[in-house]
Amino acid sequence: MGRGRGPCAGGRWGLASGVTPVLSTPKPKAAGTLTLPLPKQLTRFVAVVDPARCAACGVCLPVCAAGAITLADVATINPDRCTGCNQCVAQCPQDALRLQPA
Ligand code: SF4
Ligand code: SF4
Repeated sequence: MGRGRGPCAGGRWGLASGVTPVLSTPKPKAAGTLTLPLPKQLTRFVAVVDPARCAACGVCLPVCAAGAITLADVATINPDRCTGCNQCVAQCPQDALRLQPA
C-alpha cells in the first residue's frame, strides 16, 4: 500500500471515479399508539392480614411508618395508606402478613 493512500482509495474496493457515496439512516417510523404491559417492578403491592394467623400482638403497629395498620380483634391494613414497604411482613411473629398486588 502506497503512502497517503487509504485502503479504499482505489484498488479492488475503491469507488469508481465520479461516484459520490451517500450515507443514510433509517427513517423513524410513523407515530402511533404503543401499549406495553406494566413492568412487574412497577406493580403496586399492599400488605394483607391473614386473620386466622394474627394474634393481635400489636408488633406491626409501630413499624408501619404510613400509619396503615389498626388493631382490634386482629390487625387491619388500610390499602389506601399502605406503601408496600414490607416492614410489617418482616416483623410479624405469626407470619400473618404478606404483600399482594393492590
Ligand atoms: S404483628 Fe402479626 S400477629 Fe401481631 S398484630 Fe400484626 S399481623 Fe397480627
Ligand atoms: S407494608 Fe409497610 S406501609 Fe404497608 S402496612 Fe406494612 S409496614 Fe405499613
